[in-house]
Amino acid sequence: MEKTDILSLTFEELKSDMASMGEKPFRAAQIYEWLHSKLVTDFDDMTNLSKKLREELQQRYALHGVKVVTVQESQIDGTRKFLFSLQDGNMIESVWMQYQHGNSVCISSQVGCRMGCRFCASTIDGLERNLTAGEMLSQIYEITRYTKERVSNVVVMGSGEPLDNYDTLLKYIHMLTDEHGLNISQRNLTVSTCGLVPRMRELAEEHLQMTLALSLHAATDEKRKELMPIANRYSLAEVMDACDFYFSRTGRRITFEYSLVGGVNDTDQDASELISLIRGMNCHVNLIPVNPVKERSYQESKHADVIRFQKKLEQNKINATIRREMGRDIDGACGQLRRRYMEG
Ligand code: SAH
Repeated sequence: MEKTDILSLTFEELKSDMASMGEKPFRAAQIYEWLHSKLVTDFDDMTNLSKKLREELQQRYALHGVKVVTVQESQIDGTRKFLFSLQDGNMIESVWMQYQHGNSVCISSQVGCRMGCRFCASTIDGLERNLTAGEMLSQIYEITRYTKERVSNVVVMGSGEPLDNYDTLLKYIHMLTDEHGLNISQRNLTVSTCGLVPRMRELAEEHLQMTLALSLHAATDEKRKELMPIANRYSLAEVMDACDFYFSRTGRRITFEYSLVGGVNDTDQDASELISLIRGMNCHVNLIPVNPVKERSYQESKHADVIRFQKKLEQNKINATIRREMGRDIDGACGQLRRRYMEG
């Protein structure tokens, strides 16, 4: 019989497992704390459990989080990119960033991605598989163990489309914010989507307090289709409706991500179109000068164009920031994460 993946069990699931094993309920709290707060990676380290129980756990459960393969540190800003191996030999990447307000981790939700955005490295070889909740959590745990620093913010913006792994994402959010685990506040969590409309609507109904970031990148259907195949499935009108719906259900303002590609979506006209699209919405625009990806020919916008674009939005009372690109020298920035480590 295949062992159950213990890192992917919620506290409630663990409690019912312990009950079925004839254990006291407080055992579940102890074990959950070892796994998700004290971050041990071996049943033998759970020192307040009897040897017999530890052996039973060993028999019944698999405990394999992700494993650190390499860590690269940016010489520019101290950002670190972690390459992790999974139990089945697949590899994923995560990024650790230090900000004044605390440490932030950007995690992956899938091995690869099937959304096909033209400027993104994560999608080049397509989707291999979804990550489990345990694998998503374990990226944060391993980084915490390695840096010995608390993570206060989590963004699901690494490889993968989180809403394409929807049920697992919900479980992951539940576990990440569980008081028996890392107990991270929902307000310190951001999930980024390329715009899977039905899932965005479902997520809104969960009434979570996390931030939803929408990868917009263009303000007309025509231009968006050039950059993002998903735009062929859902029109901008549908995506914007889903954003309004998310705001109406949760009261959380939407973040629009807009990667500026030189000569493609960074002109004055593009800015004007963006302004008419989102004017009056309770939102925030995050401008990202597109990051270089070897296989893609897109150029980043000139700095002066980025500033002009931002100014124009602000003149129209749209809150816009330019994302400080962390870890570019280690390919740790947006759209640069890959399934496998590339030499050179
Ligand atoms: N699938 C999700 C999350 C992963 S991508 C999504 O699409 O939102 C995280 C952000 O980085 C997205 O806004 C994505 O469009 C952007 N991105 C991808 N490649 C990029 C690149 N080369 N330069 C800048 N941003 C990029």
